[in-house]
Amino acid sequence: MSEDCVFCKIIAKELPCVKVYEDTDVLAFMDIGPVAKGHTLVVPKQHVDPITQTPAATLQKLIVVVQKIAQAQTRAFKADGINVAQANGRPAGQMVPHIHFHVIPRFAADEHHRNWTPIKYDSSEEMAAYGLKIAEALKQL
Ligand code: ZN
Repeated sequence: MSEDCVFCKIIAKELPCVKVYEDTDVLAFMDIGPVAKGHTLVVPKQHVDPITQTPAATLQKLIVVVQKIAQAQTRAFKADGINVAQANGRPAGQMVPHIHFHVIPRFAADEHHRNWTPIKYDSSEEMAAYGLKIAEALKQL
């Protein structure tokens, strides 16, 4: 547990939440600032962050719960779609530095728009060079 972490305080029941799922390793609860009604957060009970430092076993447990929440939102709200989002670091929009997945039910007329403006590579060669850098870095992991 991290003493300054809002999610750790929720997990320790020092702060309230609307819980929707809990097992020995994972907690899911309603986001208090939803981008669409039903927006749910899925967090590990262990304080870890960011995704690059999170044990693979923890990620596996999280993504299975993310799927369950998405299935439940689809059933409960007859959602037309689901967004799954996960941010790492302030430049990426992360507000609480305790790894979490956003699971957001989406509706044809919900008027929520993501701030996701596509840019372009200068050339196909530039895109290939970026891909090659990632592929080379993967070999070193
Ligand atoms: Zn925490």
